[in-house]
Amino acid sequence: MHIDILTLFPEMFQGMFGSGIFKRAIDQKLVSVGIHNIRDYTHDKHHSVDDYPYGGGAGMVLKPEPIFEAVESIKGESATVPIILLTPQGRLFSQQVAQELSQYSHLILICGHYEGVDERVREHLATDELSIGDYVLSGGELAAMVVIDAVVRLLPGVLGSAASPLDDSHVAGLLEYPQYTRPAIYRGWSVPEVLLSGNHAQIADWRREQVILRTLERRPELLDKAKLSSEEKGLVQKLRQS
Ligand code: SAM
Repeated sequence: MHIDILTLFPEMFQGMFGSGIFKRAIDQKLVSVGIHNIRDYTHDKHHSVDDYPYGGGAGMVLKPEPIFEAVESIKGESATVPIILLTPQGRLFSQQVAQELSQYSHLILICGHYEGVDERVREHLATDELSIGDYVLSGGELAAMVVIDAVVRLLPGVLGSAASPLDDSHVAGLLEYPQYTRPAIYRGWSVPEVLLSGNHAQIADWRREQVILRTLERRPELLDKAKLSSEEKGLVQKLRQS
């Protein structure tokens, strides 16, 4: 996958791509990233990227020209690459959206700033709009990092063979079971017996039960859409009635 990011603050991405699984994924050529400064696509002597809003009001709005020019030069002839505008007004980002985006070989992300981006970018350039939650950030950079993190870890090979994202919370619409590591007893708090038993079938049953209990306890609405066996549906019903 190749990811292009349009931003006014390219340096914000250095930490993310300079360490950990992203650096490894880049080194192994599983993913490549182009970070483009929107300012580089301006033509006036002050390199202006923003201007006052028509109609008045506080703050500045990102101008359309450098954003259109940047996307057009990056995108080339490709007609299918998603051009994603990060905005608190977009569709809500989720694990499902991450899975959907992980199927593409190229993504373009546009990070807004100040009061936002000229509406014509949304209307005539972006093919998708994503919000990472119902709150307002100062810029789209952190939102883009959230999207990229969730998408890239789904790409084959990125997490390595030992780790699998399949059991993670939200991947199958439920929350993950509790995880423990050594020591078996810490400050008098013990790891559940079954996890020390070495009995893989019992461990799998316990984990599945915990997935359901935990989801029911914390995010009961997720169970309405999740794929459950008839036995599991019975368990949910019993727990809901108790
Ligand atoms: N005035 C805009 C509004 O009310 O819709 C908010 C602008 S915000 C201060 C500046 C930029 O941060 C936005 O253009 C967007 O790129 C980014 N941003 C802020 N909150 C976001 C969110 N929840 N999800 C994704 N991007 C967000």
